[in-house]
Amino acid sequence: MKFKILSLLLALTLNGCGIFNESSESPPTLNRTDYALGTYITVKTPDIPVTAASALDKAFARLFGIEMIASAKNPESELFYVNENAYGRDIIVSDELYSLLHTGRFYAQLTDGAFDIALGSIVELWGIGTENARVPEAYEITEALGNSGFEQLVLSEGERTVRFLREGLRIDLGAIAKGYAANEMKRVLVESGVTDAILDLGGDIVVIGSDRRIGIADPRNSAEICAIVTISDKAVMTSGDYERFFDENGVHYHHIFDGTTGFSADSGIISATVIFECAMISDVLSTAFFVMGVERAVEFAATMPEIGYILIDNEMNFYYSENIEIEIIN
Ligand code: FAD
Ligand code: MG
Repeated sequence: MKFKILSLLLALTLNGCGIFNESSESPPTLNRTDYALGTYITVKTPDIPVTAASALDKAFARLFGIEMIASAKNPESELFYVNENAYGRDIIVSDELYSLLHTGRFYAQLTDGAFDIALGSIVELWGIGTENARVPEAYEITEALGNSGFEQLVLSEGERTVRFLREGLRIDLGAIAKGYAANEMKRVLVESGVTDAILDLGGDIVVIGSDRRIGIADPRNSAEICAIVTISDKAVMTSGDYERFFDENGVHYHHIFDGTTGFSADSGIISATVIFECAMISDVLSTAFFVMGVERAVEFAATMPEIGYILIDNEMNFYYSENIEIEIIN
């Protein structure tokens, strides 16, 4: 079935997904866009009353607050302090950071390390998405691998403390904190009375309201879409090899790492989308599925039947769950 795309209302150009609208006449909306978490974040709502404007302000304030806790890059953040200081001693952290670390470690265990919040030393070494991106020497990768892995992270619930067992261990919440921030922004908006809105976090989409058509970026031409899903009150989060990368000597190096090799994950999947009510779990599992590859991801997803997924492999084959409403565009 072919679809004529008349307008793409929100940025499809960034990565992941975008809003697909067949009508050229859109109702008036209230928009706000800001730069955070290394990307552009837009909230768009047709709920125009004055309260919606203040709801948007509150939602963005929440986003910036989370960035100051969970950013591995900002030297002023709480996580940055932990990364610099938690080797061999217990650091007391905020409830919010503790809960992100605890949840992150839980999913690292559940996915057998396909998703792992403790790959920060590998992420830093490769520098993908920064001006220092490079292919490291083999010994550097071996060293970074030794300084990686959620098993090296000690959390103590009672005292809310964090400790590292390796000096070079670094936590990176890049594959969970965006989803968490999306959940929090949604919560603030809904609590403020917003009943209809689209949140676009650099191409990861959260919908408040019903029956929104969301385009999935074509991983081999991310300005176009290759599928449309119709969702209500859900998140659509995508991990792809086309979002942050560099090519050298014919090899494609991207930002999603395999903690068993220290190299970019090479499972055959080039785009993994997870559709679920909770944006944080969608974020985590899209990264995990990307690393797992089709067979392992489909097997894993069978244990969580409420999760929707779309996996695209390097031959542009689609694998998707039966619980989603999807149209593939040829
Ligand atoms: P996802 O697949 O959801 O996440 C991939 C990211 O998670 C990688 O970039 C890496 O950081 C990490 N990762 C890689 N492999 C794994 C794995 N196997 N398991 C778990 N995690 C993995 N970007 C900037 O350029 N500048 C910033 O200042 C900046 N600040 C940020 C602050 C916060 C709080 C967050 C959440 C993100 C920030 N980012 C920033 C973006 C971040 O670096 C990631 O690139 C981004 O979150 C990737 O999201 P994604 O949806 O594209 O991919
Ligand atoms: Mg993710």
